[in-house]
Formats: sequence, structure tokens, C-alpha cells
Amino acid sequence: MNKLIIANWKMYYGPVKAGAWVRAFRRERLPKDLDIGIAVPSVSLAAARASLGRATIPALCAQNVFWEKEGAYTGEISPTMLVEFGVSLCLVGHSERRRYLGETDDMTAKKAAALQKAGIVPVVCVGETEVERKKKQTKSIIKKQVAKAVADLKPDGRAPAVIAYEPVWAIGSGKPCDPVMAKEAHDVIRDVIGSAWGPRIKDEIRIIYGGSVTDRNIHAYMTTTGIDGALVGGASLDPRTFALLCRSAVPA
Ligand code: PEP
Repeated sequence: MNKLIIANWKMYYGPVKAGAWVRAFRRERLPKDLDIGIAVPSVSLAAARASLGRATIPALCAQNVFWEKEGAYTGEISPTMLVEFGVSLCLVGHSERRRYLGETDDMTAKKAAALQKAGIVPVVCVGETEVERKKKQTKSIIKKQVAKAVADLKPDGRAPAVIAYEPVWAIGSGKPCDPVMAKEAHDVIRDVIGSAWGPRIKDEIRIIYGGSVTDRNIHAYMTTTGIDGALVGGASLDPRTFALLCRSAVPA
């Protein structure tokens, strides 16, 4: 299976800049055997889609969703609305949403299940804080987060989710997690998935790493067994730098 790299623009780029980013990125040389996604603010999905046209690279990823189909949920966006833009992936449980918006494991699970029903792959983000790592709670935290987030997902023959291991202390800090340490966390996650969905999906599921990934360190992650891709924030904001990162991930 191809590696997967997803750009997370976070709260950057309204429609005008989003369209320009996509057009610039599409002019770049990209590795053929790499899956690429862009996680775009909701208000910019239409512009990103318009610049992409029917192209599927990069795949459109949403940054948030609500779990109901429709109703009196002011300000929220349903999975079926995302489908209208051709969204194929959606982040859930990102640590910034947990921290600033109170997103819990329970909400993450509901969002993931609603996405699956709509045919969108949830990208479930998990990871420990610095304090939790210092207290040696990394394994127990990520085990709990993953087990709860995937509890309502049904494997229908394929891996129903992507898991992003994102140690909170590594996000936006310029302090990336050592690939060997990241691999240890990925192994824990893979075991949880194995217990939930059996050995085949345990092998097939893509577990990607996020936290201060750049074009200079991506290769070390991509050559570490068990790391199937990356979620990239800061280093994805410039389309040329992000394209360089993609080329460094899978050198020709
Ligand atoms: C992220 O936004 O998920 C992320 C990993 O950000 P950064 O690459 O900037 O650490």
C-alpha cells in the first residue's frame, strides 16, 4: 500500500488562497506511488474543489464534521455536506480540537462512525501530552484514545480508518518525536487495532505520524517500519515546500 501524506492547513487559507495553493501544488512534480491529501478549512472546500476539478490528487480532506445528518446544530457541518465537495477523508480528534473545543474521545467516536456511514475515511488523531509522556502514560493514553475512537466503526473488508499518532508536544513545536519512539507508539496502536478488527486489518491499516515533520526529516519516518505516512501542519502551508516534502518522502 502507498504511504499517505496529508497536509493540515489548520485555520489558514480562505477560499482565494486555497484555490491558489491547489493550483500551485498541481504544477509541482509529485511521486506517483504516494497518496496525498489536503485538510482544508470548511469554508475553503468549494474553492479547493473548483481548483482541483475532477483530479483526485491531492485528495480533499475536511478538518471537522458533526455526527448528525442535519438538524438544529447551528454552525455544524454534516458528513453528507462534505460528500457534496468530493471529500474523501476527514480529521477527527485533532489535539487542537480536543484542547480548544473540548472534543472528547466519545465525540471523536461519533464523528468517525458518521463519516464511515457517509463513505468518508476518518483520520483519527491520538497522542499524549508532554506531562503524560513524562509520567510514562503514553501507552495507556493512546490505547484508550484509539480503542474508544474506533469502537463504533465497522470493518467492511477494508481498514475503515487511518490513525494519526500525533504526540501533542511535537505538534508545531519544532521538536519532532524520534522515529524509533514514534514506531513504539505505532506498534501499540496496531495492537489495539488487531484486537478490535483482527490480524489482516492490523497489517493493512495506515498509521501515520504527525508532529513537526519537514522535508528534511520526512525520509527518516518513511523508512521506519510501521510508519505509513505523515500528517503535516506548518510545513504544508507553502505548496512548493510541501511538494518537496512529498518528493523527499518517496525519492524517485
Ligand atoms: C498537525 O497540525 O497535525 C501537525 C502535525 O502540525 P505540525 O506539522 O506543524 O507540527
